[in-house]
Amino acid sequence: MAMKLPMNRREAAPVLWQEGWYRYAKVLASPNFGPRPSSACLDLIVIHSISLPPGEFGNGQVQRLFTNTLDWEAHPYFQSHRGLQVSSHFFISRSGELWQFVSCDDRAWHAGESNYRGRSNCNDDSIGIELEGLEGGPFEASQYETLASVCAALLQQYPVAHLAGHEHIAIGRKQDPGKGFEWSRLQASLGLPSKCFPANTETRAP
Ligand SMILES: [Zn+2]
Repeated sequence: MAMKLPMNRREAAPVLWQEGWYRYAKVLASPNFGPRPSSACLDLIVIHSISLPPGEFGNGQVQRLFTNTLDWEAHPYFQSHRGLQVSSHFFISRSGELWQFVSCDDRAWHAGESNYRGRSNCNDDSIGIELEGLEGGPFEASQYETLASVCAALLQQYPVAHLAGHEHIAIGRKQDPGKGFEWSRLQASLGLPSKCFPANTETRAP
């Protein structure tokens, strides 16, 4: 009598997204968000850099800023941020650890006054990713790895067609992530054409 073979089952792929929350991020929910306009087409990823105070890493202050728990008195530099209510969707620490503060389905407050690909108010239809770092300075290999992973997952889930820096969507007002960010490295990791990136990032087709 022939044995009935077990069904050739494939391992189910893990669910990467649940209501805009990414499976592999540490969640720290921020109140600094609102709904996206119903017409929003989520086609832009905005890359930022931040450290608080500038050049100091791994002290948890960025997470505090994004959740409105930063002690403004803790450092003179924080005075300039007093009362600021901001958050990106994601934050990538120097060691490549990924944090998420706002569901990608919601509108996080990261870009401010901005304009890109003929549309203003980039918060409406973008996803913001902050890299822990000094504006203009270099970033760690582990940060590029995490960034590429989360961007690839975003590309699967949302109709992302553009990736740009804060400096490209708020020209003259913002300079992050700056010259130390290697756009060509991100482009090569994602295998995307140059047209997905700002013209002045000197990206080359892989
Ligand atoms: Zn920024």
